[in-house]
Amino acid sequence: MQYISTRDQTISYALSQAIREGLAPDGGLFVPKHLPAIAMDSLSQDSSYASFCAQVLNPFFEGDPLASELSSFCENAFTFNAPLKPLNDNTSVLELFHGPTLSFKDFGARFLAQCLSSVAVTEKLTILVATSGDTGSAVASAFYQKANIDVIILFPEGQISTRQQHQITCWGENIKAYAIRGSFDDCQQLVKSAFSNTALRQKFNLCTANSINIGRLLPQIGYYAYTSYHFYRQHRIKPNFIVPSGNLGNINAAYWAKMMGFPIQTIVMANNANRVMVDYLESGDYQAQQSIQTLANAMDVGNPSNIERLQYLFNTFDTFSQNVLAYSVSDEMIQQAIQEAYKKYRYILCPHTATGYIARKQCGASPWIIAGTADPCKFETVIEPIIQEKIPVSPALTQMLDRKTHFETINRDLKSILK
Ligand SMILES: *Cc1c(COP(=O)(O)O)cnc(C)c1O
Repeated sequence: MQYISTRDQTISYALSQAIREGLAPDGGLFVPKHLPAIAMDSLSQDSSYASFCAQVLNPFFEGDPLASELSSFCENAFTFNAPLKPLNDNTSVLELFHGPTLSFKDFGARFLAQCLSSVAVTEKLTILVATSGDTGSAVASAFYQKANIDVIILFPEGQISTRQQHQITCWGENIKAYAIRGSFDDCQQLVKSAFSNTALRQKFNLCTANSINIGRLLPQIGYYAYTSYHFYRQHRIKPNFIVPSGNLGNINAAYWAKMMGFPIQTIVMANNANRVMVDYLESGDYQAQQSIQTLANAMDVGNPSNIERLQYLFNTFDTFSQNVLAYSVSDEMIQQAIQEAYKKYRYILCPHTATGYIARKQCGASPWIIAGTADPCKFETVIEPIIQEKIPVSPALTQMLDRKTHFETINRDLKSILK
């Protein structure tokens, strides 16, 4: 399989090279040259989650030097799975937050760490990553003490939850964290400008672990594939998915799973008060926006980088708008959702998953699966006052909260970051 740039199909790379580069040389994002069709009956229903994913990802690795390691990558990365928790007869939550840092970001970050560790056998790498809250901790945990790899994490000062920040800054050794005086979009912009600076890029051997990296997106296909495959086998009906979205990486993986032939009906995007996608779908004219701070902070994105992959996938605005449905959800509605789900189902939603819960109400009767993107215990200051209960803290988080933190607060300036 070759990987091409969303901006220029003549730029063609092998997978390991695309993962290593992160961004295509013309500034576009790497996408597979074609999406492989999956032969459903070639998959084994008894496979473990990790080995199912290895089967699904196999065509994406075809012909690449990393192909022989794919199975062990999956075994090492996916040491947890994604249970489906029913709320009622036709709504369930796909809990994607049972990894070490308690958000779906663990799937992508841990898989990418496997791939890049293999690349770093021959060269020292610096990984530069911007985080809106959960990527940073997932990347830190996944790359901690990995040989020959330094990690630099940029997070927006004062805009992520205390526990999220603790999870990002409690590492040390090969992991460095910076609080940036700015928004997540500013952090993302810093990463982009570092990458477009050829001299810096070469000097530090820069790699990205943001979802612009194809190595983080491919493994996310796995849980949509696995869940829809088993759902369909059991119920003989294709489920619909709602994906709480910010930078549009996760939803992109859902579309890819669907295009590969996995039994998925409709895919709907839930956004917080950042309305860039809703406005785009209404007007047909994409305008990046300033991000605004919400209770679902990991989705505070005003200029989602993966829109470029979705636009590439759907080609024209007409096709795009026929396939992409988006709902924007206010903070007030997020709070209502948390309260209602707890009252009705004794289920605790994180503020991000809560946007999916609200979007669910706009959708019809057929079965819907909401992607549960983070463990609510990361957002106790938002949730506990609403449900008037203490949220149990997972042992993984307790361990991290016990560690000392270290980070520096700096201005939006690359020179203070890459020294
Ligand atoms: C990152 C994140 C999102 C948004 O996912 P994208 O792939 O950026 O669209 C949603 N919820 C949580 C908890 C996240 O960490």
